[in-house]
Order: sequence, then C-alpha cells, then structure tokens
Amino acid sequence: MSTAPGRSLNAPDVERDELEVDLLLVGAGPANLACAIHARRLLIERGKEDATVLVIDKAEEIGHHTLSGAVMNPRGISELFEDWRERGFPVESEVTDDALVVLRGNGKHTRLGGIFTPPQLKNHGNLIVSLNRVVRWLAAQAEELGVEVYPGFAASEVLMDGERVTGVQTRDSGLAADGSRKANFEPGMDVRAPLTVFGEGPRGHLAKGLIRRLGLDEGRNPQTFGTGIKELWEVPAERGRELVGTVLHTAGHPLGTDGYGGGWIYGLDEERLSLGFVVGLDHHDAALDPHGLFVRFKQHPFVARLLEGGKVLRYGAKTVPEGGLFAMPRLSGDGFCLVGDTAGFLNASTLKGVHLAIKSGMLAAEALVDALVTGDSSAGATARYDELFEASWAHEELSRVRNWRQAFDSGLVAGMLDAGIQMVTGGRGLVERRPGHADHTTMRPVSESRMTAPAFDDGACMDKLTDVYHSGAVHEEDQPSHLLILDPALCVERCTAEYGNPCRHFCPAAVYEWPEEDAEGVRISASNCVHCKTCDIADPYENIEWVVPEGGGGPKYVDM
Ligand code: SF4
Repeated sequence: MSTAPGRSLNAPDVERDELEVDLLLVGAGPANLACAIHARRLLIERGKEDATVLVIDKAEEIGHHTLSGAVMNPRGISELFEDWRERGFPVESEVTDDALVVLRGNGKHTRLGGIFTPPQLKNHGNLIVSLNRVVRWLAAQAEELGVEVYPGFAASEVLMDGERVTGVQTRDSGLAADGSRKANFEPGMDVRAPLTVFGEGPRGHLAKGLIRRLGLDEGRNPQTFGTGIKELWEVPAERGRELVGTVLHTAGHPLGTDGYGGGWIYGLDEERLSLGFVVGLDHHDAALDPHGLFVRFKQHPFVARLLEGGKVLRYGAKTVPEGGLFAMPRLSGDGFCLVGDTAGFLNASTLKGVHLAIKSGMLAAEALVDALVTGDSSAGATARYDELFEASWAHEELSRVRNWRQAFDSGLVAGMLDAGIQMVTGGRGLVERRPGHADHTTMRPVSESRMTAPAFDDGACMDKLTDVYHSGAVHEEDQPSHLLILDPALCVERCTAEYGNPCRHFCPAAVYEWPEEDAEGVRISASNCVHCKTCDIADPYENIEWVVPEGGGGPKYVDM
C-alpha cells in the first residue's frame, strides 16, 4: 500500500483507525454533492440501500470553503431535481438585466446592454445564487437520502495499491509547528473505499498528485487558471432595489488590453451586491496582484458610485480553471473519478461552471453505481464516466468553446477576433486545436514589470489584511505550515533578482511577506490563507506547494 506523490504533513509510523465505506467523496462542492445525491438515489433504486456514501470536507462547516460569483445556468439543478423550486433551492434573484460595461482609464465607461450584450454574457433565464448557500442546501438534500456528510475532515493523502486508489488518509490534528506531537494529538484515519471521487475544487492538492503519478493529463493542454477576488457588499436600499437581478460584467480598466480578465457586479437582493474581479494567472507581469486589480476596479467612478454609502460584508478569493475541454485530464482510473472544478468543468466564455459541475457529478454517479452493483471498480468500469461525459450536453457545450481561452494567449485584440470566428465555426476558430500553457511559465523578469500597488483607504478600498479579516480565515497557529517552500535558497538567490518575489504580490491574503531588512527570506503567515491555491499555480519556479492544514482551518465564507 502506498500514497500518491505530493507532500503530506501527517506523522509517520502512527497507528490509525480505519473506516470502510462503499463510495467516498472528497470535498463538498456542487459536483460531489450532486454525485452523492444521484448515486444514493440510484443505489436505492437498485436495491443497494445498505451501501454507504460518505462526503468529507476540510471546512469547519459545509460551505465555509465555497466561493463563486455566482450566476448559475439552471440546467444542471433541473436535471438533479425536477422540483428544485418547490424544494426551496436557494435563489438570490432571477436575472432581469445584463450588460457588458467597458471601463476606461479616464473614468468614463460604455454600457453594452440589450441587443449589444455579447452573446456569451447574455444571462436572461439564469439565476443569481450564493454558491455557499447552494452547497448547504445540497448537503441537506443528500443527508435526507442517507448520505453521510462530515465537515472538518481534511483529506491529506491518497491511499493507493499500485495504480489503484483505495481511499484517503485524513489529516492529523495536534501536531506542533515543529512537527512534534502535542497533548491533543489525534492521528488522521484511513478511510477506505472501492471508489473515491475527488471534487476538491480548482487545483485539488490530491488530484494534482494523482494526475502526475498516473499521467492523467498526457496529451492534454496544461490547465490554466484565473484568480477571482470577491466581496459581498451591503448598499443603500434605494440603489440596491435598482440592481436586483442585474448582471454586469466589465472589461477594460484596470487591465486594459494587458492580460485576460474582468469584473462582475451582481444584484442579489434589495441590499446586497456580489462584486468581484478575475484575472488570468498567465499575465506576464511579475508584480501581478489580483487583489490590487480588484481595488483599482472598485476605484473606477462607475463602480465607486454603486458602492457609495455601503459597506463590505465578506471577502474571499479562489482560482478558476479556465483551460477548457483540451485541458481536462482523463476523468477516471482504477477506483476513482475526478469531478467539477478539479477536472476543469468550466465554460470560461460564459464564466459558468456550477451547472457543469452538477452534471459531472451526476454522470460520475451513474458509472460508479454500475461499478458498485457489479463489484467491478477497475479503470475499465470507471471509464464509463468518461464515455458518458463525451455523449453529454456538457461535452457539447465545452466543445463549442474548446479554443476560447487559448485564443487570448496572443493578446486581447487577437483573442476577440478569434473568439468571433469561433462563434461561427462551432468553437474551432482559426485552428482546430490551440495549444495551452502552464501559467507559471509565462512570467517575465521583474525588470519589465509595470504594475504598482493601488492606494488604499478605510472605505471601499481596503488593504489585503483588512480584507482577510472579512474572510473569517483562521487556522490553529501552532501547526506545521501548510505552505511549503520546496527550496528556500532559490527564493533569495534567484527569485529576488529575477522576479522580485512575486508571491508577495499574487497572494490575495498577504501570506507571503518580504521585509526589506530581512535577508533570510520570506515570512509566511499561514493563518491568513484563504485556500485559493494561487501560489501553488503561479510561482514561476513551482517552488511553493499548498498542502492541506488541520481540518476546520481556513476561511469561513457565509453567503458567498
Ligand atoms: Fe492563496 Fe496561497 Fe495565499 Fe493561501 S497562501 S491565500 S493559497 S495564494
């Protein structure tokens, strides 16, 4: 028995309890919860109601680590529950208006609404939701069907027998920062199952090890990510009322034509706005600072006016997998499947993934229940999930935008031209398959950097530490750092001169600090980490590895 590559902070040589279940799902996002719900229903239908379905999640409570914009296409939830409305599915508002707003650096803007809204940003018929409330609702539905849902259990390692996944080991608690065992030390347990589903969100740390070990990405484009920064705002009711059901996406300022990304403003209800900015991590600037761009976005007069007299309620950050169909790894193997963001189920052109996540979970459930009923959980059996995906509307949708994100590699203008051609060639564009790139390979030397920090204030434009307070992020302080610098000397000897230590810029939670007077290297405030995974993706030397901290640590997102 072995574990997949990837580092773990668990203590070696410890006797561990074992738990056996039939179907184990790692992560309580929409994909895994849909998978658990659908699997449980199919198991009951097929007389297998005794089969145990267990969902574990590293957050202290379900939803605490879930963050999205979010505008949701109802197609996925309608397939999972025909009567989702009657069941009380949480909708903040139905979309009543949509537009693209082009922000200019001189403070002006142009609103492209009505017939001028770009087709991929038309949202009538979609729903504005809080994904955090959605997963809490899904978890309650799952529990009603007999699924066991355990928050606070962080999966630390993949258990393997050769190339076969046999479960996961949960994270030890009660280890001190130096690795010694404290009085409250509790070893993690081995949770074993014939079938394990990884739905850990973008850049899942277990899936990352598994993809590498089993070569699941062979022949695929490297996955490419954006980092999204979000705040939830309370605004005066007279302005809030005007914006209920409104979906605004922005382009232009502060990125201009330099990089891929933009902002969003969604009217949730009469008093609350969801506000955010997402930027591709393939941006060339070594000082790329997603939080700084978000602040500049809020400082544009068009956005600033909407926030006047309001106050921030919550803050959070998360990465999104933007690479599309060609960047998706093989979805299954001996004893396991990958679903949702972990597998890259996201339509980057429409900025939507929740419906695809739900669909991926449902498709996986169909293959996995067959496997459980026949007692065959081999790669041959789980491959049915890949086949079901290829025959599904989810594949068709992703196929229509298969070259979307890569088209922007040559800049915004070339990307928009190609995207236009893609729309009339069924997703092909100028070539059948565009190659991708790993984000960490695109950074240019610090000598070419142009980005500077924005001005902060005590009002709408807070610095990172003030924002982190609004994320509720907290970890047990006396534990080994879950942010591993693989070669600390590299940071000082090369990175400072070549890239100017970009970790101090790209982390949206001010985890990495480089005090000028400290020649020793980086200071890591791991307790601030909001688990966005930007550092694991964007470090130009792949010198930072995010591993899971003690269960329960991290942000505490509510209504995000
Ligand atoms: Fe995100 Fe890494 Fe910063 Fe944590 S340390 S908030 S994962 S960039």
